[in-house]
Amino acid sequence: MSDSDPISLWARSAEESGPGPGVALPDRVDLAIVGGGYTGLSTALHAAQAGIGAHVIEAQEIGHGGSGRNAGLVNAGVWMPPGKVRAALGPDYGPRFLRRFADGPALVFDLIERHQIRCEATRSGTIHAAHSKAGLDDLQARWRDWAAMGEPVEMLDARTTADALGSGAYVGGLLDRRAGTVNPMGYARGLARAARAAGAGISTGVRVTGLTRQAGGWQVDTDHGPVTARAVVLGTNAYTDGLWPGLKASFTPIHYVQFATTPLGPEADFILPGRQAVWDTAPVMTSIRRDARGRLIIGSMGRVIGTRDRGVSRRWADRQIARLFPSLGPVAYEDAWDGQIAMTPDHLPRIHVLDDGLYTPIGYNGRGIITGTIFGQAMADLLTGMNPADLPLPVSDLSRVASAPVMRRVYAMGFAMNQVIKGI
Ligand SMILES: Cc1cc2nc3c(=O)[nH]c(=O)nc-3n(C[C@H](O)[C@H](O)[C@H](O)COP(=O)(O)OP(=O)(O)OC[C@H]3O[C@@H](n4cnc5c(N)ncnc54)[C@H](O)[C@@H]3O)c2cc1C
Repeated sequence: MSDSDPISLWARSAEESGPGPGVALPDRVDLAIVGGGYTGLSTALHAAQAGIGAHVIEAQEIGHGGSGRNAGLVNAGVWMPPGKVRAALGPDYGPRFLRRFADGPALVFDLIERHQIRCEATRSGTIHAAHSKAGLDDLQARWRDWAAMGEPVEMLDARTTADALGSGAYVGGLLDRRAGTVNPMGYARGLARAARAAGAGISTGVRVTGLTRQAGGWQVDTDHGPVTARAVVLGTNAYTDGLWPGLKASFTPIHYVQFATTPLGPEADFILPGRQAVWDTAPVMTSIRRDARGRLIIGSMGRVIGTRDRGVSRRWADRQIARLFPSLGPVAYEDAWDGQIAMTPDHLPRIHVLDDGLYTPIGYNGRGIITGTIFGQAMADLLTGMNPADLPLPVSDLSRVASAPVMRRVYAMGFAMNQVIKGI
């Protein structure tokens, strides 16, 4: 793959086009935002709507990070079950966080509707599929937590799960009717369009290289010259570089790989007929979804090992599709790509205050479509005077995950072995 190749299927298939390469950096802004993914773009959109002069500075193209590469499952909540979130965040923040994250998909789909974002949005729910009895027990606990809040979730038995998936590989599932899917790059580009229309500036192909505290704000150095800002939000997440000391060591980056088939015909109508997307409870998770053209997209933890056409990952994709859908037969692939996820030790995201007027929401643990959108909105609220105590979760100081470099290697080796073993 060369630098000019699209970073994912979504970068080629999205109906929305990006703002295109452009520098045009202002000398001075109220708010400089580093990173053109959901976090940066939602911050820009909501800040601009609140009358703040916001400017997004993206090193590559809009959606170059996780936002243009992900699986597109617009799920509610976070990785951790609601009961554990409540226990971890306590009686003040726990219920508030869960409410905001239960309503996350509605926020995303409302923005899509309001700004007419063309991103193949579906709202028929997603299914968390149980790979084992233990997985089913976990789903039942999640169901109890959400149902107690009156949320529209439903346990599916093995038969109903098999009908919904077109696969008998699972012993049950949790259908979440709040959730849905998007073309993730389409959503990112649509947010960029909406942010611009609201008055935010966007420069792409510009890397921020330094941040220096100065009277009344920050000097933001870039490879195209400096910008002065009253406040700065870093929306760099798993694609964080060395810009702020220690930030990269505050999470463990792991990779997630996806293979997309060519559009499938009527022979595949039995696969996900209701177009719910699926992820499972296996320790090394698998995700499955269709897109608007009928492609089948399968993903799991790890990198692309080899290429779309040959190698370990290709064998893994073939075997997984044959295992899940034995009657489908061989398929042709159109794309294979991977991306980085920022994992935190407790699987909860963070909002760090790095210094006066310098914030970073980070560590979304693979649940970033709603999290980036919610936290971007929260950043704009904070900058327009909201009490920090009213944020969805308490702000934290930066702390290093001492084991991050080791865990990164452990995960990478484990996920590679998983592809090797499941590809045999
Ligand atoms: C393969 C994969 C599958 C996933 N599946 C899902 C899913 O199905 N559902 C879900 O909700 N979430 C999913 N996620 C997680 C989700 O994609 C991310 O959490 C989310 O996109 C993070 O958005 P962000 O804006 O915070 O960061 P990103 O989208 O990663 O953007 C960070 C940006 O910062 C830029 N940048 C970095 N340093 C600099 C610098 N110095 N100067 C300028 N720019 C800089 C990068 O170029 C990048 O564009 C998945 C992630 C991956 C990788």
